[in-house]
Amino acid sequence: MSINTHKPDIAAPEATRYVYVERVRCPECGSDDLKTTRSVNQSDGSRLQNKRCRTCQHPFILVIE
Ligand SMILES: [Zn+2]
Repeated sequence: MSINTHKPDIAAPEATRYVYVERVRCPECGSDDLKTTRSVNQSDGSRLQNKRCRTCQHPFILVIE
């Protein structure tokens, strides 16, 4: 018996839905070279990520709803 980890399970319809987002960029200098310093799941299902720009060191918070 083998487990295929590459193909999504077609019995799960939610696996066929994709959401595309633009690449997250630094609000200060526009660089996409970012580091996630902290990730917090909230009770309402959203997620907060503390990010820091590797280019200008500007910290900001990304909210994933
Ligand atoms: Zn920056």
